[in-house]
Amino acid sequence: MTPERYHRLRAVLNKRQPDLTVLMENVHKPHNLSAILRTADAVGVYQAHAVNPTGGVPTFHDTAGGSEKWVYLRVHPSIEEAIGHLKERGFAVYAANLSERALDYRRVDYVRPTALLLGAEKWGVSRRAAELADGDVIIPMVGMVQSLNVSVAAAVILFEAQRQRLAAGLYDQPRLDPETYQRTLFEWAYPRRAALLREKGMPYPELGEASETAAKKPPAE
Ligand code: SAM
Repeated sequence: MTPERYHRLRAVLNKRQPDLTVLMENVHKPHNLSAILRTADAVGVYQAHAVNPTGGVPTFHDTAGGSEKWVYLRVHPSIEEAIGHLKERGFAVYAANLSERALDYRRVDYVRPTALLLGAEKWGVSRRAAELADGDVIIPMVGMVQSLNVSVAAAVILFEAQRQRLAAGLYDQPRLDPETYQRTLFEWAYPRRAALLREKGMPYPELGEASETAAKKPPAE
């Protein structure tokens, strides 16, 4: 790994927001899922969540622009489990939902730990998910069509979250705990080596600038 690459990975990790995420409920079109992950990467989401209709690992599309490598995706077996998981970790879950009770998305405080729940392309957020969420948010629409594409809605709201967090200084200091930071740095730098070490149950070596830049021959990945 070149020193430039090492610094680039660190610069991105320094801005990751472990307490901002998305939960995609049955967003089944690969290009939408990929576009949402791309926006998630752009605003610094560390890990995204999904409940997949097939129960399998979602597939990615070129729209991802490689972002699936940089934003971890956790697939949950059910919406109950997914929302429970987030709430246990202190997230407020806001459903992007075209409902009567929905608040204008700009009125929500995204500085606190927030998960944005996005609904399926055709049916939107399920009734069960909306019941479990802490509230609904809406992007006001004054045109002829009722809703935005799900990935566009995600982008509008996530960039409002980024705006608020920038103003609050949440991008000024690294926010990941040191152990997560080091582990992620290694996985990003050497994904295949990291997978091999995980398979063998072996710990990752710590990456430091000195050890990286001193390496005479760059590794294959
Ligand atoms: N007929 C569906 C409904 O009534 O919810 C439309 C689904 S929309 C194409 C897919 C998802 O994008 C929604 O579930 C929601 O999460 C998000 N979305 C789209 N437009 C939105 C808006 N104006 N405000 C909030 N969320 C929106």
